[in-house]
Amino acid sequence: MATELQIKPAVAAAAEPPPKPKPPPPKRVSKRKGNTSGKVMVLEYHRIVAKDTLYDRSIKKFRQDLQLLYERGYRPVTLSQYLDNEIDIAPGAIPVVVTFDDSDPSQFRFLEDGTLDPNCAVGIWETFAKKYPDFPVRATFYVLPNGPFGQKKFRDKKIQMLKDWGCELASHTWNHKSLGKLTDEQVCAELGKSIDWIRGLGFEPRHLALPYGVMPKNRALLKSFKYNGKTYGFRSVALAGAGPALAPTDEKLDPMRLPRIQGMDRDLGIRYWLEMERKMKVAFYVQP
Ligand SMILES: [Zn+2]
Repeated sequence: MATELQIKPAVAAAAEPPPKPKPPPPKRVSKRKGNTSGKVMVLEYHRIVAKDTLYDRSIKKFRQDLQLLYERGYRPVTLSQYLDNEIDIAPGAIPVVVTFDDSDPSQFRFLEDGTLDPNCAVGIWETFAKKYPDFPVRATFYVLPNGPFGQKKFRDKKIQMLKDWGCELASHTWNHKSLGKLTDEQVCAELGKSIDWIRGLGFEPRHLALPYGVMPKNRALLKSFKYNGKTYGFRSVALAGAGPALAPTDEKLDPMRLPRIQGMDRDLGIRYWLEMERKMKVAFYVQP
């Protein structure tokens, strides 16, 4: 006798995961009109310490810089995002590239108990980003083989955090020597060693900051050079000063001579250019 029971298929179709909710479209940051041919600030910081000096930014001033940038509608992008024209910030926002040189411990430090020092640069920034999530920790670090950032026991943890934040590592050479004083062979070693080491940390170093802003005698090496039988090169080379860089699509933009603005109070530093923008004396890139 036939059973009336209906036999269910043994295997139900794998349940589709529910569609991920789309993030809400980013809110317009300002009434500024879009301007993709405007200039871009590439900021340069060194140490973040208790007191301002010629090259150091104080903790207090760095915090103010973040606040000022945020209030005036700037949002961070990495150097690669800017140069590759992959600026993903909200409409009406102005991109700003924040770079740090020398991988000084004051930029990224853990306390002895393994927590992030709230007074190092990324600690200050992370606290800031908790309050303002649309200003995430997103920076380009030109590193030296000093850890990076010292504290070798925390190296892997730091590298993972940088990756999770979407930061990038770039080269600041191996020994921080003035490249103008070296032979071509020495220059290739300074750059090649640095690139190999950064690759070993899991980053592709596409950018270089020149120690002291000094070019090598043979500038063509920066684009393409050989070291240990392998070919290397950089996508961009950052100089030391002192004005905003051209728009990513500007034909005149020379990424191999990229100007930066010092995170300092002195002439032509960050505050000067923030004022220039506020007074509409310089047209910055504005996200359409
Ligand atoms: Zn340096």
